[in-house]
Amino acid sequence: MTPYNEHKADVLARLATSRQSGLTSEEAQARLIQHGPNALAASKPLPAWRQFLATLKEPLVIILFIAVLLAWASAGYDFFVRNDPSHGMAAVYESIAILLLIFVNAGLSFWQAKSAQKSLDALKVMADHHAKVLRDGDWLTVPATELVPGDIVSVKTGDFIEADVRWLHVAELQTNEAHLTGEAEPVQKQTHALGADVQIGDRTNMGFSGATVTHGNGLGVVVATGMQTELGKIATLLDQVKDKKTPIERTIARLTTKLMMVAMVIVAFTLLVELFKAYQQTGSLSFAALAESLSTAIALAVAAIPDALPAVLSIVLTIGATMLAKNNGLIKSLNSVETLGATSYIASDKTGTLTKNEMTVTRFYANGASYVVEGDGYEPVGEIIPDDEGDTPGFSRFMLASVLNNEAAIQTDDEGRSRPYGNPTDVALVVMGHKFGIDRDTILNKDQALDIDIIRELPFDSDRKMMSVVIKDGDQYQVLTKGAPDVILAKTDAILDHDQPITLAAGQAAVEAQVNRFAEQALRTLAVTLRDIDEDLALHGSTGDLEQHLTLLGIAGIIDPPRPEVRQSVTTLHQAGIQVVMITGDHAVTARAIALKLGIVTDPSARVVEGKQLEAMTDDDLFRLAPSIRVYARVSPEHKQRIVHALQRHGETVAMTGDGINDAPALRAADIGIAMGINGTEVTKDAADLILLDDKFTTIERSVRAGRTIFGNIKNFMRHELTTNVAEVLALLFGVLLMTQPVGQVAATTPTLTALMVLWVNMISDALPSFALGYDVPEADLMNQPPRNVKQSILHGMLGRIFLRGIVMGGLVYVAFIWAASQGMSGAEAQTLAFLTLVFGQLWHVFDARSTRTLFARNPFENHQLLLAVAFAAAASLLVTIMPFFNEVMGTAPLSSTLYAAVVFIPALPTFILSGIKELWLRWHRPPVAPERQAAPEHD
Ligand code: ATP
Repeated sequence: MTPYNEHKADVLARLATSRQSGLTSEEAQARLIQHGPNALAASKPLPAWRQFLATLKEPLVIILFIAVLLAWASAGYDFFVRNDPSHGMAAVYESIAILLLIFVNAGLSFWQAKSAQKSLDALKVMADHHAKVLRDGDWLTVPATELVPGDIVSVKTGDFIEADVRWLHVAELQTNEAHLTGEAEPVQKQTHALGADVQIGDRTNMGFSGATVTHGNGLGVVVATGMQTELGKIATLLDQVKDKKTPIERTIARLTTKLMMVAMVIVAFTLLVELFKAYQQTGSLSFAALAESLSTAIALAVAAIPDALPAVLSIVLTIGATMLAKNNGLIKSLNSVETLGATSYIASDKTGTLTKNEMTVTRFYANGASYVVEGDGYEPVGEIIPDDEGDTPGFSRFMLASVLNNEAAIQTDDEGRSRPYGNPTDVALVVMGHKFGIDRDTILNKDQALDIDIIRELPFDSDRKMMSVVIKDGDQYQVLTKGAPDVILAKTDAILDHDQPITLAAGQAAVEAQVNRFAEQALRTLAVTLRDIDEDLALHGSTGDLEQHLTLLGIAGIIDPPRPEVRQSVTTLHQAGIQVVMITGDHAVTARAIALKLGIVTDPSARVVEGKQLEAMTDDDLFRLAPSIRVYARVSPEHKQRIVHALQRHGETVAMTGDGINDAPALRAADIGIAMGINGTEVTKDAADLILLDDKFTTIERSVRAGRTIFGNIKNFMRHELTTNVAEVLALLFGVLLMTQPVGQVAATTPTLTALMVLWVNMISDALPSFALGYDVPEADLMNQPPRNVKQSILHGMLGRIFLRGIVMGGLVYVAFIWAASQGMSGAEAQTLAFLTLVFGQLWHVFDARSTRTLFARNPFENHQLLLAVAFAAAASLLVTIMPFFNEVMGTAPLSSTLYAAVVFIPALPTFILSGIKELWLRWHRPPVAPERQAAPEHD
């Protein structure tokens, strides 16, 4: 027997489970061990040693390997031909040190890649699919991987079906099974047993793993999980997701390749010049001269490439993603960290994101009179007071229809508090019913002398903006429909007024005026209707047939207070040149009233574009209009995509929120698709780049701020790294070009810095502070700058500064070298002085690099990691010039204490002088502006 042939009860019995209480948690645990996790098998990841070897394939590492070979060749020549073992040993040490560096560096990048992957995996788990399951009689949300056969699961529109299930109860349930059948049309589900040999697409009493619920809701029992599901049977092993490089990573990879080519040219040029110099001095060309020239050339090649950059970058992006998660913003790919910082438009849903989604009916209009409902929260306490004194016509039919056509419930928890379950709009109506003294369950249990049964449910969806139930009241069938008043009025024939149905024409104006009055008070409005129908229509009528010829019973006015913190976020975003747009399914007047309260618009007559107006517009009309519109009302999900495209055509970077299943295409179209972690559907979470774990708008603002901070930090360390590279190359090139004669004891072919010194600088004194820059706190005016232009390269506006600082720093290093030589110091001493001048030049410069403005614009003590990294790099660099072992290996030599003092402080001068001049110039032309006084940039 297969589950689709069996009756529901037989499936439940065979799987030893209960529809009322589900499995026990012990049984579920035992079945999980027996059946394994509910996941498709993935292919094995590469073994660690292969991943490690892969890091050795970097072009830079290959250059270093060549350097090692050359060092060995030169050592062999010294040992066996020249018979100069001490010179030979120096080359051997150099090769060992380079090898050590290669492996330490490879180990480090391997470890960094691993730990980055670990953090990302941890974040991914948070974004994983979940399922609603009944265990021990309670509904729980569990990771989808924990589902087992026999679990009772419940799904609603927008959910993924996480395992193969046999339906036990469905309400207008439709699912999309295109992944199995190729059929894009949703399939209507039912619960009866089917005959033998029915194709998958026709198994209408089954739900399949990987399908999405496009409509309605359902309750089912899991019959297969993991590789046993229909999906598992056809799925080949899932490949591990390939690392996708982010745009910055790609930019840097391109930059590194370009720099490698530049390095090759410089190396070839240097070799020629050095050989020429050797020839000039000795009159012949020896292997020794070649080896010497090669070592300068290798130092140059190493100097030209920002080797630590890729590793630092991936770590900083990962730090960023983790930082965002701490702020309740779950990022799904590192790409988005970068895009977030460039966001120029945020299009947000209203309900739940900008507002609290804690709804309360405060007013209603029914049977020709209007009322105030007192009390807040979910407790059933509050008077219902008529607006007009005197006899009121009564509103029990409105109340009854509001609570019966309703999916929500209020339950009392262990501590005696009322807790809402279900859609907040419906919850508001349940609470209103309680204040009136009626409750759906009591009515349906026939405790109130009423004989009412619900026989069909037509659940709410945001395209129809309505929901209905079909009831049988004694012998009479009725459809109860409620929804957006403007949509409902178009399907209404009559209005109940003082217990008499009057025609729509007679009553419409009064009802609309009432709706407007509610909406102007920022109330969400809902029309409640009823229609008597015959049995045939009741049982077989389509949604469209049922939801027409309605009689309006009343209008509810529901308050959904704006989240108090949003106004400040909107102000901050406006100051940051980011526009906030509200897109809502709600009424235009309500939407504008809320937008005014939140500061999204300031003009009480600001234009609101409605969905039906959007439909009448061409894409070009919308393109022209979009930059000036801040509120869209009564929109359907498909309109969102058009709004995104219109803004993107203006070159804007658009972040868009969504929660319903139909929002997924708009989220994919947006540069940053944002899903709600709590109220969002699984499908939107899947389509999103950013998931708000707390559903709050403020989290978007904080994520954008974090995106900008991370991008700023990346720019800062690139500025720092590249300046050092320019300085190193120039220090060496100045030596090659300017030192044509021996100076003192120093030969003309002696490089300004040895290859190992350059490597040290790149790996230690440069990389560590760069890494610490990744942790830097945002600059004070971060959110007072307009959004970054995504079309500009990350290096835009930095090159002048990089070259100026690099030339001065490199020049100073060369001057230190030449000065030492002219004082009669040895080659090693002169190189050591040059090395330390470079190290300290950098360590001072890093404080300048961390500001977009100047060294003086930021408090140098606020980044503790940076201070630590600088202190460590300084101490370690001084130590390698003192310790004999390193003297031997790196070619350093101890210096006098005066010289040590000089190399620590003199290299600070260029940074202070250049930064000082710039600061004075800036103050003269552009005095620093206090952030709060800066005007919001005008975008329209
Ligand atoms: P947003 O798009 O900002 O989340 P929203 O919640 O108002 O706003 P929808 O959920 O699409 O958007 O609702 C649109 C309209 O449908 C509401 O203004 C309301 O009139 C009506 N509506 C919402 N919930 C229900 C419900 N449970 N039953 C009947 N009608 C509803």
